[in-house]
Amino acid sequence: MTFSPISYFPYSRLLFLLIIASVLGCNSPESKGGLIHNMAEFRAAVANAKPGDKILLANGVWNDAEFVFQAQGTEAAPITLSVEEKGKVFIEGKSNLKIAGEYLVVEGLVFRNGYTPTSEVISFRVNENTLANHCRVTECVIDSYNNPERFESDLWVAIYGKNNRFDHNELVGKGNLGVTVAVRLNTPESQQNFHQIDHNYFGPREILGSNGGETLRIGTSHYSLTNSNTLVEYNYFDRCNGEHEIISNKSCQNVFRNNTFFECQGTLTMRHGNETLVENNFFFGNRKANTGGIRIINESQRVINNYCEGLTGYRFRGALVIMNGVPNSTPNRYFQVKNSEATSNTFIDCDYIQLCAGSDEERSAVPVNTSVSNNLFLNKESKNIFTVYDDISGITFQGNVLGEGMEAPTSAGFVSKSVALQTQDGIKISSEAGIKSVEGRATLDNTGVAWYQAEEISPVFGTGTVIKIEPGEDAIFNAVAQSKAGDIIELSQGGKYLETKSIDLIHTLTIRGSASSEGKPEIQFEKSTLFNIENGGALSLQGVLISGASSPDQAGNAVIRTSRYSMVQNYKLMVKDCDFRDLDVNHSFNVLKIFKNTFADSISLVNSTFTNITGSVLSLNEETEDLGIYNVENVEVEGCTFSKIGGVAIDLYRGGSDESTFGPILNLSNSSFDEVGLNKRNKSGASITLHGVQLAMIHHNTFTGCSPIKLHMVVGDPVTVIEACEFTNTPAIQDNGEPYEVHDIRYN
Ligand code: CA
Repeated sequence: MTFSPISYFPYSRLLFLLIIASVLGCNSPESKGGLIHNMAEFRAAVANAKPGDKILLANGVWNDAEFVFQAQGTEAAPITLSVEEKGKVFIEGKSNLKIAGEYLVVEGLVFRNGYTPTSEVISFRVNENTLANHCRVTECVIDSYNNPERFESDLWVAIYGKNNRFDHNELVGKGNLGVTVAVRLNTPESQQNFHQIDHNYFGPREILGSNGGETLRIGTSHYSLTNSNTLVEYNYFDRCNGEHEIISNKSCQNVFRNNTFFECQGTLTMRHGNETLVENNFFFGNRKANTGGIRIINESQRVINNYCEGLTGYRFRGALVIMNGVPNSTPNRYFQVKNSEATSNTFIDCDYIQLCAGSDEERSAVPVNTSVSNNLFLNKESKNIFTVYDDISGITFQGNVLGEGMEAPTSAGFVSKSVALQTQDGIKISSEAGIKSVEGRATLDNTGVAWYQAEEISPVFGTGTVIKIEPGEDAIFNAVAQSKAGDIIELSQGGKYLETKSIDLIHTLTIRGSASSEGKPEIQFEKSTLFNIENGGALSLQGVLISGASSPDQAGNAVIRTSRYSMVQNYKLMVKDCDFRDLDVNHSFNVLKIFKNTFADSISLVNSTFTNITGSVLSLNEETEDLGIYNVENVEVEGCTFSKIGGVAIDLYRGGSDESTFGPILNLSNSSFDEVGLNKRNKSGASITLHGVQLAMIHHNTFTGCSPIKLHMVVGDPVTVIEACEFTNTPAIQDNGEPYEVHDIRYN
């Protein structure tokens, strides 16, 4: 807990003001020691605010509060909106803050438990013509302040005007569509703005499963050739995984320096605009999937002295990506890379450096007059980390150093050798090439606020207590009702459990059979669904048998379904060592039934059996508008048996042509499929359908008497590999003519 200077003074200040008030008989809000208790007092205080004033919100919850802080301070004496005590004032419900005027400071506000009724939570303007200049928002928190409608868009922070500063704030858990922080350039009064965005903590942002999940965007394609002159420094980006672009730079002459990117899926992208300086930034991937570095597009971009370690991202999320452009590009497509440089950067254990990335019929303009020099590339595992997609003769390579035995993308400008490293402040440096010293960087300690701790948003199983329950009617329902996030509900081996009510899961839970060997506990259910994963819910099922024997005689039952309504938090579903059988009382009985506007971070089926099912097992195909939106990121199926499944076993769908996301990703292995997909109600006519899946690894599976696998490969460079699979009395794989890899396939 840090104490603001304000907390030292209330008593003396109160005493002083009480004396003054009693002398003058004054009864204005200021007479209460500057403490504001309601919106009427707030409005009066703002209306009367003079340079140097401090308006303090009283401790407690401010519900449905729309603050308009419009006033005129001076450089020497700003007007401050602050709080009685930091960490004790919460802005909740349908609230927001609009700032306009000059020399205003806002500090200590915490937005949580609600969402903005407008399109912005904190706005540096009151309306289109009334903007903030020379204003500062500092030590504020926005924590999961999300519109419950996943695809209802808003911005958490919109910076308009000029010379504003946004610093030492914490922004955690943006879940709905829309950029977390946007610098707007939509009128001349907001251009050449010289804003400063520094020392902020950008906390975890889950995968959105759509474009529009950027953490920071500066400009838009429409104003991309306008100077913004925004400085972004010493910010900590912690697992900002919303989409492909952690940062989307879309204007000219911005500077990004000394920022830290920790396990972020995506890149700092110079999407539009020229003359960007990207210097002394630190990217730590820790080998997490899709972690990326820096992507160069457009002209006169300088990428200097950056440090990248453990980044695994491929294609547009490589550690360093230099794109191809579109000849005579329209503003919203890709300008050619010209006059740009990547100099003295270090890449350690990064898997992909992508040159001329995105090369295709449209993006045919290769980089010109661009240099890649004095960079250091070391990789213990991979000898060749460079992918050259097109003609790289427009890139000059000079003085780059590769680790011993590593392959260069071109003969000139690289030397491969044994490189000695020193460690300085946790950073590996070499005298040979790359960054030579560490000048300072964003850390968890020098960013955000010290007085607030946001909860982790991503589900973690098994962190709570073990609750053992005996067999009986609604035993699981009753246990779930009493449970807390992370708890483990343990059923007794061989026990029979009958659930007469659907079980709503609103937090992370594990339900498992006990460790003894008397046979799996069996669960039957009488409602149309057994488990409903509601917003915030996540489920791990282990070692149980689920039978449809008691389910109602109606079409469309499901063992597990998502919320019928929009889910703003991603869920996880883990199934291990389970048996699902006799889901056949009526047609279209699914294992999982999902609804639109829901998103699974991951679904895994391991060592489980699925037998006699009239519907589908995993059908994740509800986003059919082809907007680039989809329903699941990672699907893993390993060691499972699918037998007599009327519908599809696995159906993944991602439509549209947007390239801003990574998924869906499928890994299917060591599984067998018997008589899958033959029901006439199965309109797909397939046992597995994959549409727009970005990465599919299908290996060591058998298909006997099944409908075919159907592949529709679109968007970007989808990778599909089918290996060591055997098809008996099953039609050949159907595809849309796009290439994919097949090895060691047998048809009987
Ligand atoms: Ca984007």
